[in-house]
Amino acid sequence: MNKQIKGHLHPMTQMINEINSIFFDMGFEIADGPEMESEHYNFDALNIPENHPARGMQDTFWVKDKKSTVMRTHTSNVQIRYMQNNKPPLRIIAPGKVFRNEATDSTHEAQFYQVEAFMVDETTTLGTLKGVIKIFLEKFFNKDIDIRFRPSYFPFVEPGIEVDMSCFKCEGKGCSICKNTGWIEVLGAGMVHPNVLDGVGIDSKKYQGFAFGVGIDRLGMLKYGIDDVRLLYQGDLRFVNQF
Ligand SMILES: [Zn+2]
Repeated sequence: MNKQIKGHLHPMTQMINEINSIFFDMGFEIADGPEMESEHYNFDALNIPENHPARGMQDTFWVKDKKSTVMRTHTSNVQIRYMQNNKPPLRIIAPGKVFRNEATDSTHEAQFYQVEAFMVDETTTLGTLKGVIKIFLEKFFNKDIDIRFRPSYFPFVEPGIEVDMSCFKCEGKGCSICKNTGWIEVLGAGMVHPNVLDGVGIDSKKYQGFAFGVGIDRLGMLKYGIDDVRLLYQGDLRFVNQF
């Protein structure tokens, strides 16, 4: 009799489950939203003005014959929808597919996975953000990790921050993963822009919060040493069965 081969969850699903569980332990709910989204939820409500380069044809898939509709370019649309239906305090993560109209190569896919973390209440600060990111990355990489903030710009946060983590491989000594700097750029974050809160009727004078978004593909590539993002989408069992 033939031996039956047992299947298992795809590495991407495994990583999403793991991330969900880490945030669940920190009191975050898991929220979901549409992948095909209106211009309003993908851009306007996130303080991305009409002339912003992120709206350009090179980055966004516009849906043919459907006016003002895009394939979402981030999972941040979920935070807007969630805020419309829930009152602070809010703690959610939104894992899901996002789409960018760009050429595919070993580090870029036109479709990939992102998880957005979002927290709003009366006391959340940049310190809270730093703590949550540190706990998340330490659990995901199973290592002690330091976090470094650099100023950056994203329209839906103020201030905007680029987050580096200490290299989990060489612990700061320098290696090929961190390009000998000891640091790896992992995600974009910031404090939710008052315009975003006020836009959904949450008083920005009373409430504040953070948001950060991270590519799950990128985290997985770092953690498992995957050198081509396309491997995650080709269904090649020689790859999938290594997980
Ligand atoms: Zn390193």
